[in-house]
Amino acid sequence: MSQLSYVSHTGGTAWDTYISQVDRVIPYLGHLARWSETLKRPKRALIVDVPIELDNGEVAHFEGYRVQHNLSRGPGKGGVRYHPDVTLEEVMALSAWMTVKCAAVNLPYGGAKGGIRVDPKKLSLKELERMTRRYTSEIGIIIGPQRDIPAPDVNTNGQIMAWMMDTYSMNTGTTATGVVTGKPLHLGGSLGRVKATGRGVFVTGREAARRLGLSLEGVRIAVQGMGNVGGAAAELFVQAGAKLVAVQDHTGTLVNPNGFDIADTMTVLHRDGGIGNYTGAERIDNEAFWDVDCDILIPAALESQITAARANRIKAKLVLEGANGPTLPDADDVLHDRGVLVVPDVICNAGGVTVSYFEWVQDFSSFFWSEDEINLRLDKIMVDALKKIWDTADRHKISLRTATFAVACERILTAREERGLYP
Ligand code: NAD
Repeated sequence: MSQLSYVSHTGGTAWDTYISQVDRVIPYLGHLARWSETLKRPKRALIVDVPIELDNGEVAHFEGYRVQHNLSRGPGKGGVRYHPDVTLEEVMALSAWMTVKCAAVNLPYGGAKGGIRVDPKKLSLKELERMTRRYTSEIGIIIGPQRDIPAPDVNTNGQIMAWMMDTYSMNTGTTATGVVTGKPLHLGGSLGRVKATGRGVFVTGREAARRLGLSLEGVRIAVQGMGNVGGAAAELFVQAGAKLVAVQDHTGTLVNPNGFDIADTMTVLHRDGGIGNYTGAERIDNEAFWDVDCDILIPAALESQITAARANRIKAKLVLEGANGPTLPDADDVLHDRGVLVVPDVICNAGGVTVSYFEWVQDFSSFFWSEDEINLRLDKIMVDALKKIWDTADRHKISLRTATFAVACERILTAREERGLYP
């Protein structure tokens, strides 16, 4: 099949990682393999110019994207990322992982993702609002509660979702709460959504640890990225008896073999937006993070962090991929050969989209659930999904990643085949 003309062919991008993951699953797809090329190209990719007036009167232009990778099983679903390194190819990969993730937990969604290449920390709040509103208007031609539902990702949050919901609602003359998820509670947001991804990381980690015979009491965890995902996961692990022994974020790397004080850690994070000024741990070189003695490693920052060289140094027995695409394919092989169990992103961090789905369902029915009910339902969906994936891995003697792709891609391509090609 022909390659996509608009992707770089130099290798090493998140899209390359995704394609190699698809190639690994094709032998397990049986007769559905004839549809596998569907997985290797996005259905639709929109590039938009986002001009805004800065506070000083100048006009700045940002490049934005919304990619709908696959809509066979339902409307598109996936976050919006604001980051200076965002590219079309990265958004394509993230949208494709959303397709796989939604199918892995059997949500009635396809996969999508969006982003703007911008350093949002350099914008004032008003500039951030203007950029978000203009971006929402530009992608308004393809999003909607039944078409494609954005959510928060790196550097986006409930406030940004509120502006997106308002802009879309104003443009369409509706109050479209279901157009985005991860909204504030007053606007149809769901209890439990903010910490849902971290909770899902914890639930899959708890199940994997049980299978490895690893008690959570005293287990040592190292976390890269203490944001929405890593911070919530770390808190839940510590509540369950684990010791947080190392943290890395954009402000540096800190270690304490006796364990961080989680309450103090969270206070510093909320105050400074980074871990750098936490005084209860020793600062080490960033690269030394990968040598830290720990039992569970949670990459929860950005993609392509675990290279083959780093994989050789990792001491953990279990890697929980809170981030999307943190492990390169050759590093995956190294970890597998070394007997390190990897719970892949496409199931490990699916807790966020699962509670996003709950939010969307609640918005449509205008009837809201208690936090306990949400957490219980989330736990059950994650445990059931992981069990099916684990059974598939055992049956074919394949990694959890390839097994997750096998379960998910069978669902996606069955829907594709049943719908048929039109026109
Ligand atoms: P966030 O913006 O809340 O936090 C990102 C964290 O990464 C911060 O602690 C930041 O300091 C750290 N970081 C940034 N650059 C770094 C670097 N170069 N080295 C080390 N640390 C760095 O983002 P988030 O929502 O927690 O998302 C983190 C990852 O989880 C992303 O890969 C995202 O796609 C994925 N994810 C997020 C959700 C969600 O619901 N938020 C759901 C699924 C997957």
